[in-house]
Amino acid sequence: MTSTAAADGQPRTESGRLNLLGLDAAGLDGLLRELDEKPFRGKQLRQWLHQRRVFDFDAMTDLAKGFRRKLVDVAELQVPRAIFDRESEDGTRKWLLALESGQAVETVYIPERGRGTLCVSSQVGCALDCGFCSTGKQGFNRNLSAAEIIGQLHYATQALEDEGRGRRVTNVVMMGMGEPLANFRNVIAATNLMVDPYAWGLSRRRVTLSTVGLVPALYRLADVSNISLAVSLHAPNDALRDEIVPINRKYPLRELLPACEHYLGNTPHHCIYWEYVMLDGVNDSDAQARELARLLRHIPSKINLIPFNPFPGTRYEASPRARIQRFSEILQNAGFITTTRRTRGQDIDGACGQLVGQVINRRNQGKRGSASANA
Ligand code: SAH
Repeated sequence: MTSTAAADGQPRTESGRLNLLGLDAAGLDGLLRELDEKPFRGKQLRQWLHQRRVFDFDAMTDLAKGFRRKLVDVAELQVPRAIFDRESEDGTRKWLLALESGQAVETVYIPERGRGTLCVSSQVGCALDCGFCSTGKQGFNRNLSAAEIIGQLHYATQALEDEGRGRRVTNVVMMGMGEPLANFRNVIAATNLMVDPYAWGLSRRRVTLSTVGLVPALYRLADVSNISLAVSLHAPNDALRDEIVPINRKYPLRELLPACEHYLGNTPHHCIYWEYVMLDGVNDSDAQARELARLLRHIPSKINLIPFNPFPGTRYEASPRARIQRFSEILQNAGFITTTRRTRGQDIDGACGQLVGQVINRRNQGKRGSASANA
């Protein structure tokens, strides 16, 4: 088929067809124009695909037969398949989902009282190489398509339904493998579907994008989306951030903070969620806590301290619990709502920074990046 602007760039499946799952409202509009069909069909299709999760075009009985035939010709529906599935003692469940050419990404379900959060991947590997993150150590292969991103929500929803324990996804965090803003268009299409009332219908408060802070992309995000924003800060000044989050050398704090304020100014959100991984003796002193409070004093903020989750080969160590507590108190005394993330799924390598998937590193072609230790 000839591709439209909207459908352009969506990778075809192996059969050369378009994976319809990844088209958001605008993407479907483009396809419908191309097929000479009425725009309202897009709503019907999104309901079939994302609400009823019916993947057989013949079963979509309120669509005209002729239209269904056109869809069969140009499109198909593919949900990723798990090649590995493990549940932690704490109920966290992790899937390794197979993609084409031997690659795989991880998706994690984290049950909490009254809610269930799905941690979704956006890339195979990650190019940013933050020293404390095992995903970065795998290298980078490629962006996930929008269908592969929303497919993780489809897969998890079905798998949880199959458990029959009443567990379901109420929140999504783009905090799995990869840097979501480095895969801008596909992440936007997928998150659009998450908050679309004709698709997944989640509130914008329940869909969170976590970024290392790619400044130009943050400005673009403010134009096209209004989901919740979490930013991986990890240091209170440029000298230290340059070291532990190397992209800071390109987008330093004096550019990152205004971009975050711009996001708040352009969206209905009241605060930025700052993530701060607690590395023993590196970024966890009292003085650094006070410096962090000074840095953020003019920005509506909630601070989430993340206990460091070690992985083989890392040179960092986790801050002692008492140190995290003290750091948190200093921030709270300075007026910041500060929470400490509970580590979940560590026994299945499903905790923050432990997702390695199965990445064939492009920068090291031919040599497979260490496959998931538990795969
Ligand atoms: N690339 C995005 C999403 C990554 S993961 C980002 O940087 O925000 C989500 C969070 O887990 C980030 O804040 C990341 O810095 C943090 N993280 C990475 N490795 C970690 C580790 N080993 N222990 C604890 N948190 C980690």
